[in-house]
Amino acid sequence: MLKTGDHVIAPDDLYGGTYRIFTLVYEKYGIDFDFVDETDPDNVEQAIRQNTKLIWIETPSNPLLKISDIEVLSHIASSRGCLAVVDNTFASPYLQKPLSLGADIVIHSTTKYLGGHSDVIGGALVIDQQDLFEQLKFYQNAVGAVPGPQDCYLVLRGIKTLPLRLERHCANSRAIAAFLSEHQEVSKVYYPGLETHDGYSIARKQMKDFGGIVSFELKTGWKGAFNFAKAVKLFTLAESLGTVVSLVNHPISMTHASIPQEVREKNGITNGLLRLSVGCEDVNDLIEDLQRALSTSNRNRVKRDHSRKQRFI
Ligand SMILES: *Cc1c(COP(=O)(O)O)cnc(C)c1O
Repeated sequence: MLKTGDHVIAPDDLYGGTYRIFTLVYEKYGIDFDFVDETDPDNVEQAIRQNTKLIWIETPSNPLLKISDIEVLSHIASSRGCLAVVDNTFASPYLQKPLSLGADIVIHSTTKYLGGHSDVIGGALVIDQQDLFEQLKFYQNAVGAVPGPQDCYLVLRGIKTLPLRLERHCANSRAIAAFLSEHQEVSKVYYPGLETHDGYSIARKQMKDFGGIVSFELKTGWKGAFNFAKAVKLFTLAESLGTVVSLVNHPISMTHASIPQEVREKNGITNGLLRLSVGCEDVNDLIEDLQRALSTSNRNRVKRDHSRKQRFI
């Protein structure tokens, strides 16, 4: 929908693959991007130019769970003749409904909570304006981004249990965020359901619950993250998120490796940051696993566990 000379405002904390496609694919075609801290709407307002056509919003953001006010940003977009597009992947439609808050287009990676079982890759756009729908439908047909029947089947089957899964993801995450907040090896916990989180009140206003992703920082940095990721047994070291089983990700070496180091550091994506996608297992088992793995995070070396095939990448 954009053309050479157009300008887009995007958040400074966002999914690494979105940053990659913006800067390494679309910038080549002369579309300009500014990445700003969208948790403060003034930053967005100030970044708007004559040629700004689109405001990209991701809330909660990946991996720092920053919260932006969808209603306020959508209002700024419409008053300046721009589209407000919300990546709603972290919340899922069960927890957050951006169209009813004024957004024009909602994007979901159906690979995550909608599919829910890490066995399908897909995406969806949700639109309630006929003219936008027709433009995008034309592109879908012309470009060929059409899912196969098996992929559709897997996503439709996942959706049947979306509320059940999300309720458990949220309850488990709440307990894990509280547990991590108290732990001596942890220097910072990012979870919008914590009252100490900067976005807590906006999250409460625009979300039904706070989601299934918890990020945290270890005092012991990269080494601690390495030890932790090797020691956990129930959390699988993997990219992706939003599946029934718990996953752990080390953003700087995995999902956010394509963001330049100086940009990552400026935005708080540190060497010791870990992102948990909390699954639907028994929460006591998960906390026990975290407790054990955290006790190894400050050791110099972890004894090699030959039963595990994963390698830290
Ligand atoms: C994973 C993810 C995407 C991309 O989804 P794919 O289905 O893996 O292409 C986009 N946005 C967010 C927030 C994500 O977490």
